[in-house]
Amino acid sequence: DELISQIAAGEVVERPASAVRELVDNALDAGARQVTVRLLAGGVRLITVEDDGAGIARGELQAALRRHATSKIASLHDLESVLTMGFRGEALAAIASVSELSLLSRTPEQDSGWLLDARSGELRPAARARGTTVEVRELFFSTPARRKFLKTDATELAHCVQAVRRHALVRPDVGFAVWHEGKLVEQWRPTLAGGLATDDVHAWRDALARRLADVLGEDFIANAVAVQRHVGGVRVTGWAGVPDAARSRADQQYSYVNGRFVRDRVLAHAARSAYEDVLHGQRQPVYALYLEIDPQRVDVNVHPTKIEVRFRDGREVHQAVRHALEDALAAPRA
Ligand code: ADP
Ligand code: MG
Repeated sequence: DELISQIAAGEVVERPASAVRELVDNALDAGARQVTVRLLAGGVRLITVEDDGAGIARGELQAALRRHATSKIASLHDLESVLTMGFRGEALAAIASVSELSLLSRTPEQDSGWLLDARSGELRPAARARGTTVEVRELFFSTPARRKFLKTDATELAHCVQAVRRHALVRPDVGFAVWHEGKLVEQWRPTLAGGLATDDVHAWRDALARRLADVLGEDFIANAVAVQRHVGGVRVTGWAGVPDAARSRADQQYSYVNGRFVRDRVLAHAARSAYEDVLHGQRQPVYALYLEIDPQRVDVNVHPTKIEVRFRDGREVHQAVRHALEDALAAPRA
């Protein structure tokens, strides 16, 4: 059973950044306004993710570590329309099976926090403000073969930062910070004032633009055109960059489906085609694109890492993205 869970873990947790992604997902699902990630040795020695979300009640801590324990899905039917980041209920269990993990959490109703050590099962009171801290020590300590595949600390750190960046680019209402070896590496403050209605589309868009500038650089936004188009059942919004050729970077391609970061061939190809058509390949496609699509028409449950999706109608999505980008890129710039 230990072995089976470690094999399953391999699918979810490839490297420190995969754990960071899952833990930040959970923090956001819990309604966090601030998420702080602290790392040692690129996350291999230590990852902690702190949030100020709803917390996990004392009586639920053990269950949270069980495989296929999830508080986010009540029936199979929910799978089709699930919108939260996590829903498979295997991330914490998977990470715990290849590390020394502890959960420290406090709900608003409790007058103390509780700390659960996954390995020993020990549960004891511990000081904590409302929210959750997940601590992951010595990732892959019991699977040296996997540990050997990790790259340098600097590379693993870069992947961890990238994982947080992907969340930051879609949640301007949440503050993020990443620390490495006691030094602040990145910090993005919320760009959407607290209490502001998030269904205010314009306020959200402004906040998103500010977050993009903070995360990707003022250059990105200054040299980007707005994308905003509804084609069929697909709404495409965001920004497409038209940087100087010299400053062109291939690594700034962010796409989201219903608030979830995805990497998808259909989307990437559609974007490349649009840049090719309008700019004749003189610019690298760089973009942050946010797709909204009926959840019934996209399967997010393709892979444990949830980074891949399958569209029910790939052609429709391809066309929507391509046309949205072509419109934006062809429009005269101010
Ligand atoms: P999933 O996110 O798919 O439900 P996980 O293994 O990631 O599965 O988490 C298991 C459960 O632990 C979640 O359903 C949630 O109830 C709880 N949990 C995990 N992290 C947090 C957190 N940061 N804040 C509140 N609850 C959490
Ligand atoms: Mg999760």
